Order: sequence, then structure tokens, then C-alpha cells
Amino acid sequence: MPEALRLKGQGASPGMARGPAYVMAPEDGRARGVRANGSDAARLAEAVDRAVEALRELAGRSDLESAAILEFQIEMLRDPALLEPSLERIQRGAEAGAAWAATMDAYVASFEDAEDEHIRARGADMRDIRQQVLRALHGERPPDFPQGSILVGRDIAPSLFLSHDWSRGGGIALFGGSVASHVATLARSRGVPMVVAMSGAEIETGMELVVDGDDGVVAGGRAACASELVDDRASSLPVPDGRQADEIPLHTADGIRLTLQANIDHPSELRHLSPSGIDGIGLFRTEYLMGAPADLADEERQVEIYAETLAWAGDRPVTIRLLDFGADKPPPGEATDPSSFLGLRGIRLLLARPGMLRTQVRALLRAAPVGRLRVLLPMVTAPSEVEQTRAVFAEEAARLSARGVTHAMPPLGLMVEVPAAALMPETFKAEFFSFGTNDLAQYLSASARDNAAVSPLYPAARAAVLRFLEMTMPLVAATGRPVGICGDLAGDPAALPALLSCGFRDFSMAPRRMTLARAALSRLNADGSEARG
Ligand code: PEP
Ligand code: MG
Repeated sequence: MPEALRLKGQGASPGMARGPAYVMAPEDGRARGVRANGSDAARLAEAVDRAVEALRELAGRSDLESAAILEFQIEMLRDPALLEPSLERIQRGAEAGAAWAATMDAYVASFEDAEDEHIRARGADMRDIRQQVLRALHGERPPDFPQGSILVGRDIAPSLFLSHDWSRGGGIALFGGSVASHVATLARSRGVPMVVAMSGAEIETGMELVVDGDDGVVAGGRAACASELVDDRASSLPVPDGRQADEIPLHTADGIRLTLQANIDHPSELRHLSPSGIDGIGLFRTEYLMGAPADLADEERQVEIYAETLAWAGDRPVTIRLLDFGADKPPPGEATDPSSFLGLRGIRLLLARPGMLRTQVRALLRAAPVGRLRVLLPMVTAPSEVEQTRAVFAEEAARLSARGVTHAMPPLGLMVEVPAAALMPETFKAEFFSFGTNDLAQYLSASARDNAAVSPLYPAARAAVLRFLEMTMPLVAATGRPVGICGDLAGDPAALPALLSCGFRDFSMAPRRMTLARAALSRLNADGSEARG
């Protein structure tokens, strides 16, 4: 077995993948040494057309989110700002490929030098279209890699991600890349584990690797077998109904009923889940559905997605969270605003920009009759935010009634993720509560979730987070309204004894965490102690 390898990076898409490494050779960025021969302008224009055609064809076989990303590339390719400088270079005697490469290099550099991480991340799209046109000029086929492998490289082109078949699993481990890139968005939607900004080390093709997208770690050799990198991905694969059904309902060792629900970011994840094996969807993060600005205004698409999820769940509850934009998740097409970690984020942003809120509210009201919908409000700090949101629901419901459109009013609950809200739960007119420990940890430790420089403080504050839960859970429970937990801590077997002893009974977590959590919970008593025997 090769030497142990453990590389720390940033998790860009959660989950764990194991497989042989496939090291992508650095792209051959050079244009071929063909001589200019007078037909270069026409050759370049044809190559751009062929690249656009290939992207259209790929978009035609892709889902809406992926198609929006490819549409962005098509628009860039059609932008005269790229073609004209290349044609000028050709007029001055450059060959088509060399002219295109030189224009694109300057363009890529201007993106990569940007201060804003989102603009920098679009550099990967620019490199991608640079290569697509060069390939079209040289008659080369797009690259691919073996199914089920872990792609290793500096970055990965969105078109490569989209044309690859991920149905046999696999993951992505990048020395560069960005959590804000289009590929990271796609990887999160498709459930492909991904780590970016990995510290450097030699990785060879064929070496067995584990990508842990939750903790941002890539391990190889002996470290890939280390017990802390347990591959529990199997829990997210289809499970025969009978096997999971007999584990439902879940009880502690001393017979107290617990519920185990799933967190999802995209309805495509439902393909790997059986509704009979879980107690419902405890958190559906909707911001990852919005790949392009146009999606925010597309009410019909949202109705379809929410209704499909509710129909899938049948009589089990589905908790859909209103858009939690801001901080590390800017609205599509917008740059990250670092001040929004403590500024306009979640419900604050929605109330400040009610257009996207009202579209989503109408879609939720219309989908509600299909199943047991609950709606969760993110980043709530003050009772007035719940009241204003409830008023928006009431106004939109009245408008739908006036138009004779079928709808139903779902219960509204709040994410308990701002410490101020956790300390004052009785002041909120909410029908249920769900603790979001990811943000609670961030705001209690004053360390941004996506800032690698302070990431060690995050786990260091864990004991403080548990003490805070111990103090505030009884306050929330005293309201008499349902309360659960959906932050990452809920799926961490090491935290479960403390969470049970705080009084938590309803847990929601990433599907891949469920098998271990279920086993751990059933071995514990309701007070968190280990069951004897
Ligand atoms: C949380 O903050 O704990 C949470 C579940 O929400 P997100 O991770 O989407 O912010
Ligand atoms: Mg949160």
C-alpha cells in the first residue's frame, strides 16, 4: 500500500466518495503550430459556431440548472468582446488558434485577478470555452475520465463535469477551484463529493483515494482506511424498502420514539432515498435550485419541484426552507457580499427584496395541498420578521383565492440559528422550530464558515455550542411547539448522546449520515447514556 496521504482543503460539496484517482493532465493550453493561411478568420468563426452547437446539444440533455450554466457559456462565446480582438490579431497575421488563445488568456487573467471570489470562480468557465474552441479548431474530442474515479487536478471545466457520467459515483479533488464555482454548484446538486483548494502533494493515477466533502479532506493510502474516514455513503444508495422499514419507527434503547428525517439540497437526491425508510424531509434548502437569475422568477418551475417532493413523501412531512441567500450563497448572478454574514442574509434579504420572496411564497402555497408541507424561515432574529413573512403569505393566499387558484396555508417555523432567537423562542409566533447548528456555531464562535484561516476555531467552539443547546433547548421546548435539529451536529454520532440529553427527539441530517446515526441512537437511552448489554 502506498504511503499514507492526508490533504486538507475546503469542502465544496458534501458527502464521501472512494475510488481510484484519475489525475487530469494540465490542459494543453497551446494552439497548434499551424500557419496562418488567409482562411483563419473563417476557420475561427466556424470553430466558435461548432463549440456553441456542442454546448446547445449538451444543454438539451441537461436539467434546467445545468442548462442555465451552459447558456452562460454560450452567451460568452457569442460576445463580440471575445471574437473581435481575435479577428484583429488574425488581421495582423496571427493564426486562428493562436489569436483565440491570446485573447482568451488575457480574458481569463482578468477574471482570475478579480477580488470577488464569484468573479474569480467564473475564470473556470472562461478557460473551459477557450479549450472548447481550440478543440473545435483542431478537430479534437472533449476529454473524459473513467466512471467511478476521483478526478484530481487544478480545476475542472463545467462542460467536463456535465458530460461525464456520474451514475457510478466518483468525486472531485482539486488543488485549485472554488466553493463558488459553477462546478461546485453542480456537484452539490448532483451529490458528487468535492474538495477544493487542497494542499499540494503527489497523487498518482490509480491510487485509492477517499474524498470527504463534509470535512474538506482527501486521504489516500493508509489514511484512506483510517477509521475517521468511514464510507457511509452506502446509506444514500437505494435500499430495499423492507430492510429500512423494519428500522422505522426508531426508538432509543429505553423505548422513546425518535424521528429521523433527511436534509436535501435538490430533488434529484430523492432518487437515492426510499420514503418508507425515513420520517420525512426535515430540511429542503431551496437556494441550490436557483442556478440562474431567471429561476427566481419562475413560479411554475418551483411549484413543480415542491409538488414533486411532497408527492414523493406522501403522508410524511416535508420542510421546505425559504431561500437562504447571502453570506457564502449569493443570489444567482450576483457577487458575494462579505458583509452579508452579519448583514442582509436569509429572511432579512427576502424581506428587503420581496420580489423573490413573493414568487416562492406563491409556489409554496400552490404546492401545499399535495402533501404535508411545513415552511422554514432562515436567519430569523426578531419576531417582526416572522410576522412580516406571515403577512406576505396571507396577502399572496388572498390573491390566489381571488384568482380561484387552489392553495393551502402551511405552518411556518423558524431556523434557530441566530443566538438572539435561540434565547427568546417564546416571543416568536412560529408553529415549529429547527436548530441550525452550522450557523449557530459560526455566530457563537465569530468565525465565518467559509474562511479557511479561521476554520480551526469552528470545531474548537463545539463544546460551547453544546452548552448553548443545553441552555436554550429547554426554552424552546417550553413553548410546547415541535422542535427539531437539522444542522450537521444532528448527524454526528459523537454529538448524539449530548443532543439526546438536551432533549432532542427529532433529527434531520444528510442522507449519507443516517445509517450511522440510526445505529448510534438505538444504542443510547433517551438521557444520552449508553444502554447496558
Ligand atoms: C444550519 O445553519 O445549521 C443549517 C442547517 O443551514 P445551512 O447549513 O444551510 O446554513
Ligand atoms: Mg443556516
